Amino acid sequence: MKKLKTPAPVMSREVFREVLEASNDAVIIAGEDGRISFWNHSAGRLFGYGHEEAARITLLDLMPEEYRERHREGFASFIKTGKGRIMGKPVIVKGRRSDGTVFPIELGLAAYKSGGKWVVAAIIRDITERRAYEHKLAHQSRLLVRANKELALLASVSSLLSQSMEFTVLLNTILDTITRIDIFKFERSGGIMILRDGVLNLVAHRGHNEDFLEKHRAIKFGECLCGLAAETGEVITSTDSEGDARHTITYGGMKPHGHIIIPLKSKDSVVGVLYLYLQPGVIVDSDRKSFLESIGVMLGVAVSNSLLYEETRRLALHDPLTGLANKRLLDIELNRNSVLARRCGRPFSCVMLDIDHFKAYNDRFGHVAGDQMLQSVARVIRISIRESDFVARYGGEEFCVILPETDAPGAVIVAEKIRVAIKEMTRITVSSGVSAFDPGMSSPEEVVVSADRALYIAKELGRDRVELAGRA
Ligand code: GH3
Ligand code: MG
Ligand code: MG
Repeated sequence: MKKLKTPAPVMSREVFREVLEASNDAVIIAGEDGRISFWNHSAGRLFGYGHEEAARITLLDLMPEEYRERHREGFASFIKTGKGRIMGKPVIVKGRRSDGTVFPIELGLAAYKSGGKWVVAAIIRDITERRAYEHKLAHQSRLLVRANKELALLASVSSLLSQSMEFTVLLNTILDTITRIDIFKFERSGGIMILRDGVLNLVAHRGHNEDFLEKHRAIKFGECLCGLAAETGEVITSTDSEGDARHTITYGGMKPHGHIIIPLKSKDSVVGVLYLYLQPGVIVDSDRKSFLESIGVMLGVAVSNSLLYEETRRLALHDPLTGLANKRLLDIELNRNSVLARRCGRPFSCVMLDIDHFKAYNDRFGHVAGDQMLQSVARVIRISIRESDFVARYGGEEFCVILPETDAPGAVIVAEKIRVAIKEMTRITVSSGVSAFDPGMSSPEEVVVSADRALYIAKELGRDRVELAGRA
């Protein structure tokens, strides 16, 4: 509360009036009854009243309806007590023009007594522009914060992509990183589907129940939101799973949710989709969509590189004729098993097989038939052993089987089973040598050499038989 002391007469009334008239701010002086006794040009311009009109209005006309009651009470209390809440310090309130429009103002009030009555002086500044500027600034600041978050996200996505070329590791890293992003209000569920022959196959996922997995194992091109994103190559968003007619696949236990589906692109073609669950009602604006598109391209390139890497690795480690592992993969498998055997005392055995008189078979039926026979033998070996066992094509018509957790007598039983199965299912016979790994062996290859020696003995002893190393 600030009462004006009677000022020292430093300038004449007329000069003072001229100073007030020259002010860009509106200056209004009114009495206890609210009637206006002075009003400068700026006030007239700001509130839209002429000088004559100003004489007819009161302070109440200059404020919107919502302020009037408060003003009446505040002013009555001020007259009684000489104390007022908003006296002496600028406040942000609203003004009302003659045409009824309301606008933001900064208001400074001072009061003094003249002839025993209170006189109020108001200095008013239109802050419409300042407000607009402040709003714009706040908006830009929000955009900046958002851009920063998006940049940080891009950086973390790009760094995770260089962590691994292995397909499964890559997909899981992508899902873990993306579902943790808070700027999109993701729920911790989503997945990645890879497009193969016009079908989207679910290859990695988070947070789904059995029924979901059953219904989403393979989705057709164009089907539901994921198929649509793959078909159009565009980011698809949905705020409400229940009200969205495009969302055609439902499953048991489905709760209301929204979606972001990002097509994963490489060289302008879609290689798959990343689908993410949103809390229902979350709206994704167009700026965000284009940001998500860039993420889709980044991930798409990484995913297709990784697919290429896996394919190259598969080709490098497998035999094209039979599809079995080749010698390189056999070496890896032998090393893995020997490490386990040495460290954890787990036994493992090796069976070397060689087709009997295969040269004669080729000579008689031709090379193509010989190749088909090799494929048949490979298939019979595969179905005669367990999923956890391993078989490689060692050379021309030689195969090597690794049997984890199996000792020599157990391996002889398996080798015998294979021998009988091949004899029954094809018209040829095989000879086998069996050897169990001994931790005393200088290298894992030694078990193969030992089995090969036993195989030689099996051949010597008449073929179509199994020999255990060290038995002779
Ligand atoms: P043994 O009972 O002593 O093993 O007699 P064998 O004729 O099987 O032995 P040998 O090592 O003399 O001959 C192996 C033959 O296997 C030579 C080759 O014609 C045949 N062979 C090796 N690789 C392939 C292949 O990829 N396709 C075909 N069709 N034949 C192959
Ligand atoms: Mg041979
Ligand atoms: Mg042979």
